[in-house]
Amino acid sequence: MKADVTVIGAGMVGVSTAIALARHGADVVLIDRRAPGRETSFGNAGVIQREGVHPYLFPRSVSKLLAYALNRRTEAHYHLSSLPSVAPFLWRYFRASNAGSARRTYEANIPLFAGCLDAHADLAADAGAEELITKKGWLRVFRADAALRAVAGELAELEGLGLSASRPDADALAKLEPHLKTDRLAGVVHYEDPWTCSDPGALTAAYASLFERLGGHIVERSVSGLRRDGTGWRVETDDGPVSAQAVVLAAGPWSKALLDPLGLKLPMGIKRGYHRHHAPAGNGYLTRTIVDDEHGFVLAPMAPGVRVTSGAEFARHDAPPTPVQLERAMPRARDLFDLGASVDENAWMGARPVFPDMLPVMGEAPGLPGLWLNFGHGHQGFTLGPVAGQLVAAMMTGKTPGFDPSPYRAERFS
Ligand SMILES: Cc1cc2nc3c(=O)[nH]c(=O)nc-3n(C[C@H](O)[C@H](O)[C@H](O)COP(=O)(O)OP(=O)(O)OC[C@H]3O[C@@H](n4cnc5c(N)ncnc54)[C@H](O)[C@@H]3O)c2cc1C
Repeated sequence: MKADVTVIGAGMVGVSTAIALARHGADVVLIDRRAPGRETSFGNAGVIQREGVHPYLFPRSVSKLLAYALNRRTEAHYHLSSLPSVAPFLWRYFRASNAGSARRTYEANIPLFAGCLDAHADLAADAGAEELITKKGWLRVFRADAALRAVAGELAELEGLGLSASRPDADALAKLEPHLKTDRLAGVVHYEDPWTCSDPGALTAAYASLFERLGGHIVERSVSGLRRDGTGWRVETDDGPVSAQAVVLAAGPWSKALLDPLGLKLPMGIKRGYHRHHAPAGNGYLTRTIVDDEHGFVLAPMAPGVRVTSGAEFARHDAPPTPVQLERAMPRARDLFDLGASVDENAWMGARPVFPDMLPVMGEAPGLPGLWLNFGHGHQGFTLGPVAGQLVAAMMTGKTPGFDPSPYRAERFS
């Protein structure tokens, strides 16, 4: 097979990149070993986080570190047996979680997140998938006054960016979410701008169908490696090679495994996460996503039921699933909403691809001309896929990107 560009990975990031390239007139082949949108882009919490400019930092307070070390928390968990392989990433993440680095990430995030709603709106309209998106924002719940006070600075910064984060009183909250139980809460913040998706895998698949309508080709194959081929690139698959002038590596948490053999070893790690759906008990319902980040879980109203998602688990990517965080979250989740039985046999598991500074890598691979990198979007790849696709496609086709792409270059780790 031959094309102008081969995109590896049909998650939200790869599909969006393939569309942006096709819209620039390129002949694009999109390769995935599964159907589009069946991995990380399938199982996330579905929030299109317009407000998500503040990075998730590794805790630096001694009391929190000790609590995490005991491994009984809901928001974070680790496998002792995986520590030797995940420790180098954790150490870099810890070091990058200082005020100066967090500020740089926040600033680099501002232009990225600014375009996320428009970029999704554009794709959803062309894909005929607007009914999968709800535009009501999400609610962040706080159980302690101190935690609520601690986010005042962040909320003021969001306001400075023109975003709305209101503090509904009991009456307003009862109108927004009549079945949310608020008796144990110190307060709630309503982030009004973000959108939510009732089926993230279906939205990714709908965008993939749009790509095909634009003339793109999707092939279901497993990629085993890539190598230079004259002035272009050859992607080796289980069903023969695909040759192209350029390749975009957008394989989410698997990207590092495909890149390392080329000699470019970037410090990407993963944060595993889980979900399980529950039927509401009785006639209760939620219309918005509820986030309890003190306990690291999310309640997201989705097509199969209320999706309960977990916080971060640090373990080898291929280690057996251990959804203990979901079990720990359930009593806390039931404090907020009457959940019935799970409708899933097993918990779903995925992995957020993350860099220590919580910024993705987007741009041409240093020393490997024609190989473009678009991965590591961490907690917000579902949000950022369409913007990331536009940015990388603009750079690849010699167009001026809408904003400075230099903060996302792989060279920042050299
Ligand atoms: C529990 C949880 C909750 C989350 N909540 C949110 C949220 O609310 N909002 C948000 O914005 N983000 C959220 N995220 C993060 C988001 O889901 C990810 O950042 C995003 O899905 C990454 O997209 P991607 O396209 O890079 O990767 P993926 O969706 O994983 O796509 C990568 C693709 O590459 C393919 N691939 C890999 N290797 C090969 C190979 N060798 N050959 C062929 N194909 C290959 C895979 O099959 C896969 O389809 C969450 C993540 C988790 C785990």
